[in-house]
Amino acid sequence: MRILIVEDEPTLQAQLAEALAAAGYVADRADNGVDAHFLGDSEPYDAVILDLGLPRMDGITVLRKWRAAGRTMPVLILTARDGWHEKVAGIDAGADDYLTKPFHMEELLARLRALIRRAGGHASAELACGPLLLDTRNSRATVDGQALSLTSHEYRVLSYLMHHPGEVISRSDLVEHIYAQDFDRDSNTVEVFIARLRKKLPPDMIETVRGLGYRLAVPGGKE
Ligand code: CA
Repeated sequence: MRILIVEDEPTLQAQLAEALAAAGYVADRADNGVDAHFLGDSEPYDAVILDLGLPRMDGITVLRKWRAAGRTMPVLILTARDGWHEKVAGIDAGADDYLTKPFHMEELLARLRALIRRAGGHASAELACGPLLLDTRNSRATVDGQALSLTSHEYRVLSYLMHHPGEVISRSDLVEHIYAQDFDRDSNTVEVFIARLRKKLPPDMIETVRGLGYRLAVPGGKE
């Protein structure tokens, strides 16, 4: 899952980046509204954390422009203390949730998980696919209760597939959701991650759809 962090305060931006990385996400960062608008308009984020008080273009304007252009990714806004009118304006502009500064990082991560799973139509923090269980609260995967030992890239691939079960996911989709923008991306490595995951998962869980990509097989469901 790939997140855009928009925050002009360097310390908080760094704390957010660190917490997201520890939780298994990749993140791009922007410290002003113009760059934020460009990134959110051109990259396929799974969620955005958007501070409202920003240089060059304020957060509400950024959000309005995204929504007007049909960008539907979940957006969590960060508002100043006592900024209830900001919250109202933010929600009216298309925010999905808000947090008031200062906040606890654990709460931010919980709200982010909820936004991402709701965007994928999942009600629970635990995603299940047959014997495979992914607990998004602690970034752990198990098969029949046995913990899987996954590298961070393998986890990101598996997490993206599990948020989209039964859907065909192309290699380029996976690349865009498992790497940050400044990373030297190589779509061939996706094949390597898939091959390694297949060795760790029950047989036939990850199907190859020839010429299109990969699909997490939903037990009992044939598509
Ligand atoms: Ca700010």
